[in-house]
Amino acid sequence: MGETEQLLNSNSISKVCENIEADLNNNLPPWKEASFTQKVHIIVLYCFICLPVLVLLSVVIGGYIIYVTLYIYYLIEGEDDTPEIYYFHSDEEKSNARLRGYIFLIIQTWCLFLVLLSHSRAMFTDPGKIPDTHQWEVPSDGNSESSEDNKQLAERSKKGSTRSCNHCKKKKPDRAHHCRQCNRCNLKMDHHCNWIANCVGYFNYKYFFVMVFYGSISIGLFMATFWECLVVVLNDTDSSTVLCTFVILSYSLISLLGIAVIGFCIFHIWQIKNNYTTIEFCEKKRKNIPGYTKSPFDQGTIYGNFKNALGDNPLIWFLPINCKKPEDGLYFK
Ligand SMILES: [Zn+2]
Ligand SMILES: [Zn+2]
Repeated sequence: MGETEQLLNSNSISKVCENIEADLNNNLPPWKEASFTQKVHIIVLYCFICLPVLVLLSVVIGGYIIYVTLYIYYLIEGEDDTPEIYYFHSDEEKSNARLRGYIFLIIQTWCLFLVLLSHSRAMFTDPGKIPDTHQWEVPSDGNSESSEDNKQLAERSKKGSTRSCNHCKKKKPDRAHHCRQCNRCNLKMDHHCNWIANCVGYFNYKYFFVMVFYGSISIGLFMATFWECLVVVLNDTDSSTVLCTFVILSYSLISLLGIAVIGFCIFHIWQIKNNYTTIEFCEKKRKNIPGYTKSPFDQGTIYGNFKNALGDNPLIWFLPINCKKPEDGLYFK
């Protein structure tokens, strides 16, 4: 599954984005203090950060338009100009095709709506940061155990003390990690996702998961049905070469993407089931660290682990509705 992760969040894209954000954070002044050329530089860098987001949105919306205009339209309309070799000839076949068309249209529109909504929520929701309160400050005397609350933390540094971040100069709550692209620590950090130009963490993980989940359903339905259009177009003597090439390319590319997205979704369902974040999986589970047979945050039941990630109410698990209280994300049982 790690390969799928790499495919979607390829190292080269991550590296480029990391360099861009390091440039923004360290080498350029804030917007108000920037000179004209620095402002141009900042705008260009922001365009680069937005590029993966625009690519993703174009693929999602473009795929929907292709599916509806080249496939659903003929299922529902089935007019005289529908190619003869379409799979329906009798009235009964036509009404079956129409019914199928309406069902597919409803599913794809619902998925598109939820993918776009959860994408925007994942993008604009803060993943959660360490509070600026005294409790999380690294004390000057170096006694990191000074606060009662810190004794509740399960994750420890190699020396056995509370973990702290050298960049943010703060103590780290369990499951929090420093993101070089965001240039700060994020609560229950999963990974930095360039497709949403944001880190995936405690408060936006659910939106990210819902986006991947409906993306998988939509793309799975596309792969399972759009081949019909491919067969029709290739067998129709009236089809132009441009149309044939376009349909073949669309089906192949979206299916390749589909295999990656569905694999990624299964990987995240497995992670939720076992209460891992991607970082924990990569740093501990995959490396087979001795004594690390399961997540220390495992709730004991699959239901408990799903509740932990997607909220207490199972009725809204698969909807991009907030399930976290603002004060949460610092301590985990
Ligand atoms: Zn940090
Ligand atoms: Zn980040």
